[in-house]
Amino acid sequence: MINPVTIKARKTLETIQPYSPGKPIWEVQKELGLDRVIKLASNENPLGPSPKAVEAIQTGLAELNRYPDADATALKGAIAARYEVAPSQVITTNGADELITLISEAFLEQGDEIIVPSPSFSEYDFGAHIMGAAVVPVPFAAGFEYDVDALIAAVTEKTKIIYICSPNNPTGTYMQKADIEKLLNAVKDVLVVIDAAYSHFAEAVDYTDGIEYINAGYPVVALQTFSKIYGIAGVRVGFGIAPEAIVQSILKVKEPFNVNTLAQIAATAAISDKEHVEASQTANQAGRKQLYQAFDELGLAYTPSMANFVLVNVGPNGETLYKELMANGVIVRYGKTWGLPEYIRVSVGTKEENEFFIEVLAGLLAKQI
Ligand SMILES: *Cc1c(COP(=O)(O)O)cnc(C)c1O
Repeated sequence: MINPVTIKARKTLETIQPYSPGKPIWEVQKELGLDRVIKLASNENPLGPSPKAVEAIQTGLAELNRYPDADATALKGAIAARYEVAPSQVITTNGADELITLISEAFLEQGDEIIVPSPSFSEYDFGAHIMGAAVVPVPFAAGFEYDVDALIAAVTEKTKIIYICSPNNPTGTYMQKADIEKLLNAVKDVLVVIDAAYSHFAEAVDYTDGIEYINAGYPVVALQTFSKIYGIAGVRVGFGIAPEAIVQSILKVKEPFNVNTLAQIAATAAISDKEHVEASQTANQAGRKQLYQAFDELGLAYTPSMANFVLVNVGPNGETLYKELMANGVIVRYGKTWGLPEYIRVSVGTKEENEFFIEVLAGLLAKQI
């Protein structure tokens, strides 16, 4: 007889909950037998990938027998030029998700603490948990506004990293520049990770993506992704910009070929695709307005967003409404995972997708679901 498996996983893994992604379109289509299914659940670019990236990928196909460039030289060069930093201040990763894991592996010891705004992106907690570090959540103030004094007050001897997701997923709110500066000047020997995955959608004048603080000498990692505005979530590329010493530490835990060849080629092309970026920004502004207007008409309270999604309060029947939206072909994200059972987060889609979502939502609300 084969012995039952008794090999124990590391104790700290007991604290980890599996990530729950937005359901893919094909799965909902298959499960529910629907013709039209739209996905407004993962903050993807509704206009599609950067056409320049798609074109560039074609040219890389014949070289797939070769390993990727371990240094991602061309991509790092393009990022460095775009943000006016040195290539040695850039690290490229298999999605920004990987960067969060690598930062955790490079800097967190068992027993350390990370401070995260709550609710925010779940990968910060994941990174802490795999290293046996503790997560200290700091709730937002009213209207999901950042409470910088509460964040500063949460710092202890054990604090190693503070995550500032700005604009924040899932609330769409951001931390004002003056507050970021207050935070940076108040803490010592703490790494501040500014997750600016949605920076391209943030038009507030007092918004910052954090990059300006790196050359000013602060221990900041500015995190970016190609998954949102550039529309190439499927190839997985993210990057960080940080002082060189911090980049050097993160490089120690990085796999050599973490960003694949096609991803490098696609991202290098996408970063200079101004036309696609601007079209995406314009479409997002219009789409956000379209959603706000519909929510106003339906009497639903929402949080004004600096990102490509909107968090909206749909009332006490949130879970039923979320499920009924799905049953009618609209995939959104349900707020319960963030402790917000009355909320859904809806990504801004194309005009037609937003219309379809609004129509289905209005129909369900009329039936008092
Ligand atoms: C989407 C997202 C990322 C990056 O995702 P990748 O696809 O792994 O690059 C990072 N932070 C936040 C807050 C996000 O929403």
